Amino acid sequence: MNWRIPLADLNFGEEEKEAVMKVLDSRWLTMGEETQNFEREFARYLGVKHAVAVANGTASLHLACLALGLKPGDEVLVPSLTFVATAASIVYAGARPVFVDIAGETNTNISVESIEARITPRTRAIMVMHYGGYPCDMPRILEIAGRYGLALIEDAAHAPGAAIGEKKIGNWSNVASFSFFSNKNLATGEGGMVVTNDDEIARKVRLQRSHAMTTMTWDRHKGHASSYEVVDLGFNYRIDEIRSAIGRIQLKKLDGNNTRRGKLTAAYRAAFQKLVPEIEIPFEQYPFSPAYHLLPILLPAGVNRFAFMEGMKAQGIQTSIHYPPIHQFNYYRNRFPVEQTELPVTESVGSREVTLPLYADLDPASVCWIVETTRNILQEIPVERSRSVW
Ligand SMILES: *Cc1c(COP(=O)(O)O)cnc(C)c1O
Repeated sequence: MNWRIPLADLNFGEEEKEAVMKVLDSRWLTMGEETQNFEREFARYLGVKHAVAVANGTASLHLACLALGLKPGDEVLVPSLTFVATAASIVYAGARPVFVDIAGETNTNISVESIEARITPRTRAIMVMHYGGYPCDMPRILEIAGRYGLALIEDAAHAPGAAIGEKKIGNWSNVASFSFFSNKNLATGEGGMVVTNDDEIARKVRLQRSHAMTTMTWDRHKGHASSYEVVDLGFNYRIDEIRSAIGRIQLKKLDGNNTRRGKLTAAYRAAFQKLVPEIEIPFEQYPFSPAYHLLPILLPAGVNRFAFMEGMKAQGIQTSIHYPPIHQFNYYRNRFPVEQTELPVTESVGSREVTLPLYADLDPASVCWIVETTRNILQEIPVERSRSVW
């Protein structure tokens, strides 16, 4: 499909190309100087003590869960309105995801009020996800975690550069995870980063990233070591130098790109307010500093979402859904069933949400056209009495 306006787009130029060529010419492709520098620069940018680069965001969530010592019998509180990898990483560690509702239609992050009600003697951790790059209320969640002695994990895949006050997202938990997948604010293709201020967590993550071997290929290449010991069950979750080199360039552009995303978001809000006020956009006048990863809208109840998305597609506009709730997927329904009435807001938002195109290089003039197209399509499709579910 050749989209007139894709959902997401890369912000790549000559600098990324040069960085890749430099790595190819160096004749060292896996973890080395580029990766060390990427980690150092990312840690400095966030103001965090340790950053460990890995193969992808899912691997970084998995290593974060293992480093916290999650194990069978443990429960982890997690939103259902997130990407499946958020909950899967808990299951990889053998623990049980306990789904918590989101706050509301104007705030699609985990509901702080609902967290406490779901805590049991088996609860070990809270895993939050900063939906669309809009930070969860971390001061309040930290207070709850502290009061119950729970670990806190941030899935910050949407939120590189987001902050609460002066403190960047990634600093508000025991361990946080970022993704550099192609459609994220900082893109390397595949890639991820575990960040923490805890020396012991950083040590474990570094070890398990590369087979829990006590010396690295890089050290051996440099003549620092000739053999190794294996001290745990590890993985190959390494990143490579090509991706790290791209990541370093993307990191330099991140603040500028997030600012452009913010301006486009404001343009969307203003245009919807004027042309289609019945469309809700969550996180209006949000008190924290977002990374503006997504532009989610909520269709009025009863609008057939499939028909709407097909209408947009016919105009060449790519849309998506963030997210089909995890607890409604077959695997999770069978293995971790949820009471029918437990997640009403998640199910309502999950059935009405549509994500519109948002990326740093999106032309502001296109925003107006997308909103006008949205209005025209909504006028054409019939409103059904019963809510659309698919
Ligand atoms: C992208 C994403 C991930 C997984 O990252 P990958 O790099 O694709 O493995 C995890 N959680 C959320 C919320 C994401 O958006």
